Order: sequence, then C-alpha cells, then structure tokens
Amino acid sequence: MTHKVTLIEGDGIGPEVVRSTRKIIEATGVDIKWDLCEAGAEVFKRGLKSGVPEETIESIKRNRVVLKGPLETPVGFGEKSANVTLRKLFETYANIRPVKEFPRVDTPFKGRGIDMVIIRENVEDLYAGIEYMRTPGVAECLKLISRKGCEKIVRFAFEFARSEGRKTLHCATKANIMKFSEGLLKKTFEEIAPEYPDIEPHHIIIDNCAHQMVRFPEKFETIVTTNMNGDIISDLGSGLVGGLGLAPGANIGNGIAIFEAVHGSAPKYAGKNVINPTAVLFSGVMMLRHLGEFEAAMTIEQATLATLEEGILPKDIAGEGPSTSTTDFTDAIIANFGKTSSAWKARDYKKIKVPEVDKRPDIVRSKTAECIGVDVYIDSPLFSEELGQKLRALTANTDFDLKMISNRGVQTFPSAGTMPDVVDLWRARFTAKNGASTDRSKVRNLLECIEKDHKWTDTKLLELIDGEEGFTRAQGEN
Ligand code: NAP
Repeated sequence: MTHKVTLIEGDGIGPEVVRSTRKIIEATGVDIKWDLCEAGAEVFKRGLKSGVPEETIESIKRNRVVLKGPLETPVGFGEKSANVTLRKLFETYANIRPVKEFPRVDTPFKGRGIDMVIIRENVEDLYAGIEYMRTPGVAECLKLISRKGCEKIVRFAFEFARSEGRKTLHCATKANIMKFSEGLLKKTFEEIAPEYPDIEPHHIIIDNCAHQMVRFPEKFETIVTTNMNGDIISDLGSGLVGGLGLAPGANIGNGIAIFEAVHGSAPKYAGKNVINPTAVLFSGVMMLRHLGEFEAAMTIEQATLATLEEGILPKDIAGEGPSTSTTDFTDAIIANFGKTSSAWKARDYKKIKVPEVDKRPDIVRSKTAECIGVDVYIDSPLFSEELGQKLRALTANTDFDLKMISNRGVQTFPSAGTMPDVVDLWRARFTAKNGASTDRSKVRNLLECIEKDHKWTDTKLLELIDGEEGFTRAQGEN
C-alpha cells in the first residue's frame, strides 16, 4: 500500500534531520509518496504572515499525515509561530511525548528503566491565548477547559495506553485548587476510567507528579494532563532521559497527525552535519505505527538502539568522546537493520483507535440554570471599606445585596480578618435580595447604578446549574 505523507523539512537543522529520517524510512521498503511542502522562515520572509502557505494546508488536508522538521519565526517577520498555526488549524488536541531511556546516554537516571508517555491536551487551557489588561496594572489570561476537550484527551490517553500494552494511566491535575477547570479533567477521567478495566487509573496532583517523576520515574507508564502542566512535565521528561536530540513527539487530532521532534531549529548547528537525528527519526517511527507499518517501525527502533549500543554516537550523546556525523549515523542505522537491542524491551504495538466525541458544541446540557446574582469587576483606586460602603449606598434600591468584595480571590469587604495586599481590580459579588432568582434586565439596572460613580470592567453571572453552584467562593467567603 502507498502512503501519502506531507513532508516539511523545516528550518535550521530541519532539512538534515528530516532527510536522515526519510532515508532510513525509505530503506525499510515502506512505500511512502512524500509531498514536499514549505512552512516557516522562508515563507515568513516572503511576507506570508502565517508562515504556512495555502498549498501546504491543502496537502495536509489531502494526506492527513505530516512529518515535519522544526520551524522558526524569524525576528521581525510574522507574529504567530507557524507551529502553533498548524496545531490550531488542524485541532491536533493530543500531544504525545514518549520518555524512554536510551542506551549509552549518561544521565543521573541511567539504569532506572524509564519508559513513560506523556499525553498533553494541546489546544485548551491558558494556551488559548485569551488575555486582557484588566487595569493598567493587572493582566488576565483565561483558562478555558471544556468537558468536550477533557473527554477527547482522556479517551485518547486510555486508547493510547491500550495500543502500547501499558497497564497504568495517571491523570495529573491541580484539581485541589482549580476545582472547576482542572477538576473537570479529573472528573472526566474518573467517569471514563471504568470503560477501560484493563488499565489501572490513578489521579495525582501535578506538583506531586513532578516530584515523583524525579524520585521514581520508573513507576509512570502513561500520564494524561492539561496543556500547561503537560508543557512543563514533558520537558521535565525529556530532561530525565538525556535531552532534546532524543525527544520525539506527535500532535494528533481527529483524522490528522503531525509528527515532529520536540526540539527547535538549533540554527548554530545548521549545515554542519553534527546533530542527532534521533528525535525526528523516532517521531517518524511513531508515524509508521500510525500508518500501521509496525514491522518497519520496529526495524528502525531496534537498529537505532543497536547502533547506540555499539558506541556509534552523535555528538550530543558522545560529549567529549569520539562522535559520528549525522550522515554516518544515518548510514550506520541502515546497516544495522535486523539487529536488536539487548536492553530495550520491544512492546506489542497496536494501531491506536482515535476516539470519536460528539461534535455538537453543547455536549453537556443542564436541566435547570437559575441566575442568583452577579460578580461585577470594578477598576478602582479606592480601598475596600470605602468602595464597599459606596457600592452599598449606590445599589440600595436595586434587586441586589452586596454580599462581599474580594481582591485577587480573597474577601476584603466585609473584612474577613485577612490582610491581603490589594490591587485596583475588585470583584463585587451581588446576590439577589431574599435569596430569590434574578435576570439579565435586573443586572443591567444594577450596572447602570454602579457606573454612575465607578468603572466596571466585566461581569460574571452567578448561576445554580441543576441546583449546584456554578461558581467558586472567595477565600474567607461563607
Ligand atoms: P532548539 O532549536 O531546540 O535548540 C536548543 C539546544 O538544544 C541546541 O542548541 C542544542 O544544545 C540542543 N539540540 C536541539 N536539537 C538538537 C539535536 N537534534 N541534536 C543535538 N542537540 C540538539 O531551541 P532554540 O535554540 O530555543 O530554538 C531555535 C528556534 O527553533 C527558534 O526559532 C524557536 O522558535 C524554534 N523552535 C521550533 C520548534 C518546532 O518547530 N516545533 C520547537 C522549539 C523551538 P547545545 O547548544 O547544548 O548543543
């Protein structure tokens, strides 16, 4: 069968590592028709602001599988990274980062048998890039996490663990602090876990996960986590096993898969024939498994490990010792086809079943949603007591009581006895009088009263969703 793959060589060291990978893959005899496309620095320089030409997008839409080298955003050209553009355009919601010990690579963790895969949600969370300057001195970044996003990544993680015969899956969150956003991943994980009885589910708080990854890295098999947590722990993972020359990755969406190394274009090494192609090569190995070419994937994986075991080492691994060039390393791997590693236990891989999740925007619906108040954000130089008294007087004839004011999440009015340092963005929480429900017209009336004397900058309705509070309380609020 002929596979069609969009090939982006990329910038800096990109062409060297991608050509090495292509040569090794072709040597296995797998039939791939490469569609060579452009993206990155040269495209930006021609004036295309996205760094990704239409022909490349069309090729990806047609082929649905991409092998790419690193792309750089040259200073002074374009504002957005072409990498991020590709991930967002194709909604590649799962970022996969295998973390496995390599032979002959000296690290403080050598011999511990590290073999984990980190699965990071790749499109939601703080990385949606929705930011505001709320006052001249207070910045905000929205952390959006959806049930749909959680369901996609959790199901993907279980399917992935199953496809590689992994027996445990850790879900790493900060649900103890961010009960709704990070908590949604935990809740979704706990609800879906029973559908995968062959995989042992564990929830772990992300900071403890980082700590345990360093103390007992061998105990993790698969970790699923939110975008920001995943960004950090996947780099921690790369560090455990020896650095960027050895860190492959994949970005998977529904029907689209982009395989690329974690590293960038390392411009200082471009054209010098000294860098390690293993990270892109092992991304290519992941691609071969995605295409169902398990035998070729295993041949390359084992030949590469055998090559390292023979002491044929690229410079980043060899350090001060004798090292091999990128092209000689490539040829040595091909010459070692058929050899197997003495240390790396081969897994029994299966094709991953990318789960389908309902496409409708509102996959979770409530039976009831009752508005019981509103938080009004106010940009004010006043201190809490004065602001509170003024707001009470101003809003006395509305349908609301001022329940409290908080500053950066801590109640300051009425004083809860805390001593927070304060900034000029206040949250005034108004609840409907006598515990009644309220509506948007009454909220508009409240805002009109407030804006007579104060600058409100944002509102958030306080809702009971199916009888449960759809908002959190401030520190000190009862
Ligand atoms: P980088 O290109 O990843 O390089 C950082 C360092 O990592 C290199 O100087 C080198 O370390 C080591 N390294 C990276 N790849 C290696 C390899 N294949 N073999 C051996 N050593 C390797 O990071 P950067 O210098 O911060 O970024 C350069 C450009 O790449 C930037 O424009 C950035 O935006 C872009 N970038 C692109 C992607 C992507 O396309 N996915 C990802 C990250 C960065 P030593 O100096 O210690 O030898």
